[in-house]
This record gives sequence, structure tokens and C-alpha cells, in this order.
Amino acid sequence: MKLTRVVVLESFPLTKRKFRAIKEVYEEYSEILEFLTDYAVENKVKNHLKLRKLFYEKLKKEHDLPTHYYYTICQDTVTRAKSFLELKKKRRARTEKPVVRKVSIWLDDVLWDYKKFPWFNTLRNGRRILIIGLTTKRGRVKLPLKPHKLFFKYLNEGWKVKAGVKLRLIEEERKVLAYFIFEKEFEERELIGNSLSVDYNADNVSFGTQEFLIQVRTNLSRMTRFYSDVRKKIQESHLVGWKRKLPSKKGKKLLKKFGRRKMNKRVDLQRKLAKRLVELARELNVTIVLEAIPKNFNQKVVEKRKKSEKRLRNTLHNIGMNGFQRFVLEKAVEFGVPLVFVNPSYSSQVCPHCGAFKVKPDDDALRRRVFTCPVCGFSFDRDFVAVLNLLGLFPFSPKAHELLEEEPVVPVNLTVKANLLHHKNSLVMISQSLKQKRVQEETVFMV
Ligand SMILES: [Zn+2]
Repeated sequence: MKLTRVVVLESFPLTKRKFRAIKEVYEEYSEILEFLTDYAVENKVKNHLKLRKLFYEKLKKEHDLPTHYYYTICQDTVTRAKSFLELKKKRRARTEKPVVRKVSIWLDDVLWDYKKFPWFNTLRNGRRILIIGLTTKRGRVKLPLKPHKLFFKYLNEGWKVKAGVKLRLIEEERKVLAYFIFEKEFEERELIGNSLSVDYNADNVSFGTQEFLIQVRTNLSRMTRFYSDVRKKIQESHLVGWKRKLPSKKGKKLLKKFGRRKMNKRVDLQRKLAKRLVELARELNVTIVLEAIPKNFNQKVVEKRKKSEKRLRNTLHNIGMNGFQRFVLEKAVEFGVPLVFVNPSYSSQVCPHCGAFKVKPDDDALRRRVFTCPVCGFSFDRDFVAVLNLLGLFPFSPKAHELLEEEPVVPVNLTVKANLLHHKNSLVMISQSLKQKRVQEETVFMV
């Protein structure tokens, strides 16, 4: 499986002459891009080769950019047109015509010296500067970039840079941001018999093996609610326009700010948790078992719940299961930990003890998040039931009920707070102490 990572490098402030040369390209690039995007959307052109064939002669006649820019503009155009048409199909486009905002210059392997990469200049103090040469109307311009730790990490670990690079201009500081894409092929590992299964919920992530169960409280739904309340307040207090129904300019800005903050917080937590889980699986030498989620999971949940309470819809939409699954998968591939997706149907409705099927919880049980089996009386945390059932679904591992019958004790369970995730290997350490405790004292910790 191939993984890709985007790495952004900032340039040193450029000389006026250099910056002007790049800005010249930028302006002409934007102008052509805008024109072509209108055309592509109107005529539903989704292939950049076709677009290029149609306009290449015209562009060459009317403009004087180095010709390879016409190739990359066509690719840029088609990408934008496609996503706009997609939005329009879903009736989520806010404008009739596509708006070209935030232009970055796309470079291909001819427009910058891809073959020389990485080319460094060393300063007298030993610091290395990455140089990329870039074609403009005034010839080749050398762009000095500041490489950072992460950049060197990818280089040293054998990631390869892709030919396509994007440049964004920061006018006020006369700087350029360069977006490199690194990729690396990782071997997928064969599955190992023992497994660590993971159940992702709005408020916690529960996971475990045949030996222990752990629950990390994330309180994502509380955070989501907090931010939707903040946003609601902003919406109510920053209104303009007829009947005061639209957010003002400042309101929009604030909404964007808090929307972004919520997203960052969530993603940060998910990434950390994913990393800790994969560390744990690597340490234990087990296969990670995740629920397979249907494509457009969020969309589906939203549609299904359309009639239910609006707040619930918000929560489900915002906990970002898709993102979490992806983070775990990517980390697992990177760390060489095997991972399997299993169909989660009924994973929280089957009794892991006697196998009773389609156990429907009553409202009280739902609220307390407890699973109680009407047949055998087995009662346990709902999320841990899902974890046990996922363990049983994994092809080589014992079925959930065998697991509970063979082992006289219910797996040890512990609830930990999310801030524990800041420490490297924290989950590994917790699981080790849990295992030791169980061997020594054969006690059951219920929280
Ligand atoms: Zn039962």
C-alpha cells in the first residue's frame, strides 16, 4: 500500500526581482485558470488531455508562459471543475459558477528541477538550504527553502518526492510556500492469530485483546456540542442583511475560526490515539481489527437520522469515524502492523456469552450504555461487548463466547483519560500493568 504525505516548506524572503518573476507567472496562471474553469464546468470537461487539446494553440498564441504551465493549468482546472460539478450534483454548490479562489501554481517535473532533488546549499553556520530551480518568463529562478525536521525525516526514511509541486505566494512577506508530496510503498503484513479489536464511539474508544480491555474517554461528543453551541451563539449575534438572517463578515470569520479549531482538536486527538493503538499492537504482536464502515458513512448516518433530533445528527456527523479509521490504517501500514476490517453488523447486538442474537436494549440500558442479555443474564458495558464481538469475528481468534467460557475471569477493564495519550507508549504501559495485575492477583477491575 502506498502512503502519501504533504510537506510544506517556507522560502526565505525573496528579492523583489525574483518575487516579481514568480508573481508574473501567478497572475497569468490565475487568469487562464479562471477562464478554463468556467469553460470546463459549462461544457462538463473532465479530462485534462481533452481540455489541453482544445486550448493549447489558443493559449500559446495569446500568452507567453513557458508551455508546460499550460499542461499543469489544465490539470488544475479539471480538478476544480470536477469537484464543483460533484458539489452541484449533490446540490451543495453555493454559486452558479465556480469561484476560483486560493490559487497555487502547479509545477510538473519540467517546470522545476525535479531530477536534481534534493539539492542543498550549506550556509557557513552549517545550516542546509533546499534549492529548487523554477521556470518563469524571465528564465530560471532559484528558490531557497527552509527544510525542517520532518522533511529530513521523510528523506532519511526513504520516502520519494513526487514530481508535482504546488507553490503559494505570501505577498506581504515576499515569501513562497512550496507543497511537496512524499510517497512510500509499504508492504502489507500478513495477519497474525491474536487480535486487538477497536470500537470507536462518540465518547470513547474501546479496545482490547483476549487479555484485557481498555476504554479511553475522548468526550468528542461533548466537545462537538460545545463548539456547536459557540457557533450558534455567533450566528445569533452577528447578523446582517434583510431580516437579519445572514452572518456578518465578522460573524463569518468567527464561524470559520471556531469550525477550524474544533476540527483541529478532533484530528489531533484521533491521530494521537491511532498512533498509541498501533504502538500497542506492534508491542503485543497482534492484528488490529477495525469495523469496516460503508463509504460515505457520515452521509448515511445523517440521512438515516434526518428525522431525529438535530443535535444528535450534529454529533454523529462530527465525531469523524472515517478519519479515525484512516489514521489507524495509515499508521499500521507505516509501522508494519497487520490490520483487518470486519463487517460489524450486529456487533453490539449479539450476546458475547451465549450468542443470543439481536438483543435490543431498552432505553434505560441505552442511556447507561449497558448490554444485558435476556437469555443468559450476562451484563456488560455496551462498548466492550462490541469489542468482544469484533474479536470473535476475526477469522483466527476464538469466538467471543469461547473466550468468556475458557477464561474464568471477565477481561480486566479500565477507563483512562485521553490526556494519557500524550505519553509515548502509554497504552503499552497500561496494558502491561493490567496483565501483570491479573496474573498476580487474579483480580477484576471494574470501573
Ligand atoms: Zn447471553
